[in-house]
Amino acid sequence: MTIFPKAGLARNFVAGRWVEGDGGAVIAVEDPGTQEHLTNCACAGEASLARALEGARTSFERGFLAEMPPAQRAALMLRIATEIRAIARDAGELLCRESGKTLEAAQGEFEEAAQYFKYYGGLADKIEGKSIPLGPDYVDYTVYEPYGVSAQIVPWNFPVAIAARSMAPALTAGNSIVVKSPELDPLGLALLGSALERAGVPEGAASILCGIGADLGARLVASSEVDQIVFTGSVPTGQSILRAAAETVTPSVMELGGKSAAIAFEDADLDGLMASVKTGIYFNAGQVCSAMSRLLVHRAIYDQVVERAVALSQGLSVGHGLDNPDLTPLISGQQLARVEERVQAAARDGIRVACGGKRLDGPGYFMAPTVLAEVDPASRIAQEEVFGPVLCIIPFDSEAEAIALANGTAYGLVAGVFTQDLSRAHRVAARLRAGQVFVNEWFAGGIATPFGGAGRSGYGREKGLEALYNYVRTKNIAIALNRGNGASLDRAARNGD
Ligand code: NAD
Repeated sequence: MTIFPKAGLARNFVAGRWVEGDGGAVIAVEDPGTQEHLTNCACAGEASLARALEGARTSFERGFLAEMPPAQRAALMLRIATEIRAIARDAGELLCRESGKTLEAAQGEFEEAAQYFKYYGGLADKIEGKSIPLGPDYVDYTVYEPYGVSAQIVPWNFPVAIAARSMAPALTAGNSIVVKSPELDPLGLALLGSALERAGVPEGAASILCGIGADLGARLVASSEVDQIVFTGSVPTGQSILRAAAETVTPSVMELGGKSAAIAFEDADLDGLMASVKTGIYFNAGQVCSAMSRLLVHRAIYDQVVERAVALSQGLSVGHGLDNPDLTPLISGQQLARVEERVQAAARDGIRVACGGKRLDGPGYFMAPTVLAEVDPASRIAQEEVFGPVLCIIPFDSEAEAIALANGTAYGLVAGVFTQDLSRAHRVAARLRAGQVFVNEWFAGGIATPFGGAGRSGYGREKGLEALYNYVRTKNIAIALNRGNGASLDRAARNGD
């Protein structure tokens, strides 16, 4: 494939060079839609990690990006966007095969990645500080500085789009990055590296390494060479990374899981609601952190909504991602077993399986679209992330009860409100514990809208202008104009500094 131009099939982009891997470990990449072995990926080992970190540090200290005139940095980001677009068709096909997602979604991920570089590139010369009035004796201002080396750990569900949403603002702000790709589908992200290379990213400013989380990932985040950690993934991994970050006091962004609820009031437009259910829980086979995994429905329309959700689920086309069906396979046999077991345990606990509930015949890791009805909101299936095509439908009687149910898990990633009554939409949105609230359309928003969680869904924000400030720290510069007149000492005494 010509999109790996410089080193055949090497998958590790280490400080400007393609390296076949020096870790000994090899990851077998599989097509989850056929269970066919696609290729082996040689993992980056100790030496590659050291070279990537050293390259990132050197690039940062020499100011390859941070001291590049902002307009030139913007131009570099736009060139990266152009290079990503140039490979989107072929690279999207590879991502489709390794991740199981539809071809359309996989190619769309490269388009989304390009948009992140375009969006943040346009901000490179707009990272402005403030002037702070301290009276005639001082000039005081703030500047935003990049952290230095940003370590970024990426999950498998949207490896290319999620990587780009962190890489683009980090590079735009002048940081160097060392990215670890997900072990289940590392190929698409390696191809993103080839786009960076072709666009002329300075040597060492970006490395993308393939490796096992508990090994390469754990060593990366524990390194004292890392100035910032950006993690997107599950709560337990996030917790283990935070423990490592505590040792080195490294600032971290945590984008974790969710158990997000849509609230359908009695006046909801049911056709619109069903369109949102379809994308909300079945897009990417439900393997979406912000999936609509719970649907809270007013009792007046409850039976009708369950019936329509079942009909919708049973009418979905299921197949290999290359055919762009409604429902694609889960990423792995392990993930399929996990999802199926969760649903069967719920059924054993007496929860009604309105449709689906088990795997579909292979080859491929397909889970039947599943609707669980009259789900006890306190049950495990309603409280914990399943990460599969499984919708829990829960009835409610009042607005207050719906809000309490929506807020009643440890997570707080996104939420949705479906109603024709805009005053109610505003009132309820204000009371939902979530980083983002969708009104009348699940997944409304885009690359420009801030995204992130509350509670166990994490902290920090990605996407939008807001996220750029995850990748810089503020420095205040205070200049005394009349040295020695004691004004600063007086002020310090007053402030208790
Ligand atoms: P995961 O936590 O198993 O793995 C995520 C990444 O962390 C992988 O690259 C993995 O190799 C790495 N990793 C594993 N152990 C590590 C360790 N000890 N140290 C450093 N890195 C380590 O998650 P996953 O199964 O890949 O992804 C699914 C999870 O991600 C779900 O919980 C989902 O909700 C969450 N997610 C969140 C967002 C968000 O933006 N909030 C987006 C996508 C996915």
